Amino acid sequence: MEVIKEFMEQHNYPAFDLKAVFFDMDGVLFDSMKYHAYAWVRAMRASGIPFTEYDCYMNEGRTGDSTINEFSLKYRGREATPQEAEEIYALKSRYFESCPEVKPIPHVSSLLKKIKNQGLDIFIVTGSAQKSLLSRLNHNFPGVFSRDKMVTAFDVKYGKPHPEPYLIALKKARVEPWQALVIENAPLGIRSSVQAGIFTVAVNTGVLEDKVLSDAGASVVFPNMEAVLNHWYKIYE
Ligand code: MG
Repeated sequence: MEVIKEFMEQHNYPAFDLKAVFFDMDGVLFDSMKYHAYAWVRAMRASGIPFTEYDCYMNEGRTGDSTINEFSLKYRGREATPQEAEEIYALKSRYFESCPEVKPIPHVSSLLKKIKNQGLDIFIVTGSAQKSLLSRLNHNFPGVFSRDKMVTAFDVKYGKPHPEPYLIALKKARVEPWQALVIENAPLGIRSSVQAGIFTVAVNTGVLEDKVLSDAGASVVFPNMEAVLNHWYKIYE
């Protein structure tokens, strides 16, 4: 793929030598963003913050605390107290859990299998703080993920859009930036991985325009996961 070559040259990397693929979770592995949006809108409004579904998609990837503080500051002129943040997040979690069961994004299982069969390492890099994450991953994608190949909200100080989560992933995977590839659906996640110096593929599974994802720094934007699967051979074979 020409864009890969260009990216490597821009960064003065030796050559693309793929060893690990880093997957974001919400909107990439799971078709969960519509439920997160529903839950965030209601939880924030309960505290008088006029948060919208669009805000949710634009801020996807931030940790819960960071999202709450940013919007509290914007609409109330101050950050949330730790107790307020905890209450809003707990309410958001309750709304989320009242939603129907989250299903995997169509075709992502096939992509994961293909990548695993190619002998590449698979990591998950998410801002999520769900306690049951690993069991849900194992339920939907048996044998793909393990505890030591995850970066979650519990591992980071800053979270996306800071490059920290993807820098931690590089470290955990013991690879250089030119040996990794990121699959993201959200602008802040894309900014995070691009700032970590990693070639980033966007898959537009949400409500934002493709341009928002390319402006965030994605080298290529696919309309859905089936397109990523069908073009994977151009990335790695
Ligand atoms: Mg996402």
